[in-house]
Amino acid sequence: MEVLYHSTRSKGEGIRASEAILKGLSDDGGLFVPDHIPDFDFSFDELAEWSYQETAYQVMKLFLTDFSEEELRSCIKGAYDEKFDTGVIAPLVTADEGASGTGRPSDGESVRPTDENAPFYLELFHGKTIAFKDMALSILPYLMTTAAKKNGVTNEIVILTATSGDTGKAALAGFADVEGTSIVVFYPKDGVSPIQKKQMVTEPGKNTHVIGVDGNFDDCQTGVKKIFNDREFAARMNEKGYQFSSANSINIGRLVPQIAYYVYAYAQLIKRGELKSGEKMDVVVPTGNFGNILAAYYAKEAGLPIGRLYCASNENKVLFDFFGSGTYDRKRDFVLTSSPSMDILISSNLERLIYRIAGDDPDANAAFMKSLAGEGEYTITDEMRDRLSEFTGGFASETDTADEIKRVYDETGYVIDPHTAVASFVCRKYADAGRTKTVIASTASPYKFTRSVMLAIDKDKYGEMGDFELVDELNRISGVKIPDAIESIRTAPVLHDTVCSVDGMRAEIEKIYEV
Ligand SMILES: *Cc1c(COP(=O)(O)O)cnc(C)c1O
Repeated sequence: MEVLYHSTRSKGEGIRASEAILKGLSDDGGLFVPDHIPDFDFSFDELAEWSYQETAYQVMKLFLTDFSEEELRSCIKGAYDEKFDTGVIAPLVTADEGASGTGRPSDGESVRPTDENAPFYLELFHGKTIAFKDMALSILPYLMTTAAKKNGVTNEIVILTATSGDTGKAALAGFADVEGTSIVVFYPKDGVSPIQKKQMVTEPGKNTHVIGVDGNFDDCQTGVKKIFNDREFAARMNEKGYQFSSANSINIGRLVPQIAYYVYAYAQLIKRGELKSGEKMDVVVPTGNFGNILAAYYAKEAGLPIGRLYCASNENKVLFDFFGSGTYDRKRDFVLTSSPSMDILISSNLERLIYRIAGDDPDANAAFMKSLAGEGEYTITDEMRDRLSEFTGGFASETDTADEIKRVYDETGYVIDPHTAVASFVCRKYADAGRTKTVIASTASPYKFTRSVMLAIDKDKYGEMGDFELVDELNRISGVKIPDAIESIRTAPVLHDTVCSVDGMRAEIEKIYEV
């Protein structure tokens, strides 16, 4: 059955998946949602035998129904290839296995965990820019250019992106030198890790633009949304042969590929004999913009046996408070933490969940979003809260996060990054350890946040070292090979040094495209 997409804020005619991917955001400011969640039509036993690529195809074909099999398979083939440093794409390991040096057992081989109740880490950081954003952003350019072809688009597609650090580089890597596209990335100039920044400002792609913003991530995201909703500006761009689209997780083309790895994780648990087909697994997801955990929720709605969804926040714990009280309140101080990709107070994708628990009611959702924009908060109804019962919010303070990195390292030798550590802590503190097999979404390589990680492990010893010295030390203590993503930026020249104010974002685009 065809899945059509419409806005979370109005129900008009549905549009096809390829159109939703091209547009990114709906004209009314809402996010595109599927008109129904399809049911997985495969058995979980057969699933266990599939490669990552096959799993991705079987999942994506149900949501992106206007793509032909040939188109989808070709997108998947182009995305999940040698760019990933492991053939299994997303290894599932216990900390003991992860510490074996390669960051995985031996591609796909199963090893029993020493501790029955140990959680599993789903390593989503084996792509080109060593964060989980690669899982979706390595395929989005293929989906986007295929969608353009299908819809007879002749304009150049200008990808506008706000980043809290990881999306930026992953999107740059995905779209660099892709014909018919160009990309502009806005990042908070003081809100990303030194390595995240270096990765972005050294990007060599000829069609890439990277701009620091004198503000935080929410400022960048709000600024980009404003540009998207500026019809007059879009018309001027169109005259010059350009049209905007989004690589942020508000794009359905980001969300759908992310559903696949939850299905894949479940398959691995069956394959290892940890679960029988139909038994439930819990997931713990370190959350910022609510994209990753929403993908898990969609997987559950489509029939994947997921029990609880643990939403793990850092000190910007607006979601933890929301799940506890039913009130979403962004009126608070923005905290810069060691997990910058989760330093977010306006979690865009939560809107898709609000829409769903409001009974797929665009008017109710639009009223909440209006209240959020105007008063900075909204409170959902009791009925809606009942529909959230499968979610549990948790959070980790900066101390909890650092302690968790050290604890996991001391006990097992496995080194996790601060984002993963937030989830790992929440898993230990809140999850019903042992009764249900639990999968922690491991969203970044520790090499991406080397300073925070090494300081957590031994502040006295590593406090004075430079960024790349720390990289070498991390290599020494973990035995994990230094990823190419890090080696390649050691000596790379800075190619992007533009900085603008929050109000000057549009002017930067006007300069680049001469409109
Ligand atoms: C983006 C990101 C997150 C948050 O993911 P959302 O989909 O925004 O909730 C967590 N960890 C890392 C490393 C990230 O890059």
